[in-house]
Amino acid sequence: MKALDELTFDNRFARLGDAFSTHVLPEPIAAPRLVVASPAAMALLDLDPAEAQTPVFAELFGGHKLWAEAEPRAMVYSGHQFGFYNPQLGDGRGLLLGEVYNEAGEHWDLHLKGAGQTPYSRMGDGRAVLRSSIREFLASEALHALNIPTTRALCVIGSDTPVWREKQERAAMLLRLSPSHVRFGHFEFFYYTKRPEQQKELGEHVLAMHFPHCLEQPEPYLAMFREIVERNAELIAKWQAYGFCHGVMNTDNMSILGITFDFGPFAFLDDFDAHFICNHSDDQGRYSFSNQVPIGQWNLSALAQALTPLISVEALRETLGLYLPLFQAHYLDLMRRRLGLTTAEDDDQKLLEHLLQLMQNSGVDYSLFFRRLGEESPELAVARLRDDFVDIKGFDAWGELYIARVAREGEVDQELRRERMHAVNPLYILRNYLAQKAIDAAESGDYSEVRRLHAVLSNPFEEQPGMESYAERPPEWGKHLEISCSS
Ligand code: AMP
Ligand code: MG
Repeated sequence: MKALDELTFDNRFARLGDAFSTHVLPEPIAAPRLVVASPAAMALLDLDPAEAQTPVFAELFGGHKLWAEAEPRAMVYSGHQFGFYNPQLGDGRGLLLGEVYNEAGEHWDLHLKGAGQTPYSRMGDGRAVLRSSIREFLASEALHALNIPTTRALCVIGSDTPVWREKQERAAMLLRLSPSHVRFGHFEFFYYTKRPEQQKELGEHVLAMHFPHCLEQPEPYLAMFREIVERNAELIAKWQAYGFCHGVMNTDNMSILGITFDFGPFAFLDDFDAHFICNHSDDQGRYSFSNQVPIGQWNLSALAQALTPLISVEALRETLGLYLPLFQAHYLDLMRRRLGLTTAEDDDQKLLEHLLQLMQNSGVDYSLFFRRLGEESPELAVARLRDDFVDIKGFDAWGELYIARVAREGEVDQELRRERMHAVNPLYILRNYLAQKAIDAAESGDYSEVRRLHAVLSNPFEEQPGMESYAERPPEWGKHLEISCSS
């Protein structure tokens, strides 16, 4: 276990030079204080969790102090936002402080979000509000606990610094951890500004740091692109399987590591709704829940376009063709497990689509349905769940198919079935209204609810005594919260 002043830094991205990022110092926030810290994320840096309680912790992650070895940089990138190319992006309010090596030899980028203005701030103030910082913190750690690849969050630091959004709010900083902060938009930037030399330098850096095994392949860049396609197909399969809606799948919010990146107006589904749009400025529903699948491919094509100087168009096109079948295979595999199936049958896809249609028509709570399906034998579970459906006859027909399907797998001990299903069907998910309650309390200075919610979500598959209210269906008011995009 290390103290804060014992971290070991390296700054390989900074060493790429000024064409890739700009040196900027964090601008401190007033009266910095700990809102919440993640002991699990601190462990990634070998940090003693007690360090979070020290004044220097809030000073470091509130921008007041800096390690001598840190080299804060704002990265330049561009990207496609809502389908249109925006050449003017980059870290407008976040700084890469450096890379930290842990004892296992892993390296983690420390990125301080809300650290003040940079050359890429455009009209922005360089700040992040408490509300959006808490949402990103909770979501990162909750997704990780669900085994969904994501950036991590070390802490949120609150402050007295006022910031203006629709109303006056308070500034906060979030310390994000990721093995890399390179986005699809990094490659797009050097492609569209016609700088092949630098694009190659970026490519070599990413290969060496994150895809070293691809260097042994005859075409390293192609092998890397293939892996990016594979990882994104798997990531989006997980989002769809667990009802996670990202909300702003612009290419500058897509990580080359295929991990969930940049949280805005995201939401987990309450009632199942394939057409759900969590971002209320997304009028066309470009990033609706079901559109995440084709948008994943669209974004990979945008990356492919940017990689044309490094990889042949034919190979890129062929590799892009892997996305949908890979997505489908992963998704079906996950959903079989959520249904408690251990074998594969040709009609499983149909069985699943049939269920989702029924859930859609009746507005059934997506997460609780699966949890309750595993609670008892298929016969009993189906009998209990039918009351949630408006089309009871329709559900009964599905129930019969399901019971027969499970029976074809042979006799299974119910205890074992429950254990297996509960291990993939969370009891607790980050519902918008739960986040909102925690945020309301935090905005009036009480951080205990954020901390409690974080603790509950860190262990989503296991029933936690006294925490029953976190596993309930949301109240009506909590289902249709408008989440502001301003952050
Ligand atoms: P986001 O919507 O958070 O993914 O941000 C999109 C772009 O806007 C990125 O280049 C951000 O750095 C920039 N940005 C967002 N909010 C601010 C802000 N308050 N100040 C400066 N830049 C910002
Ligand atoms: Mg972003």
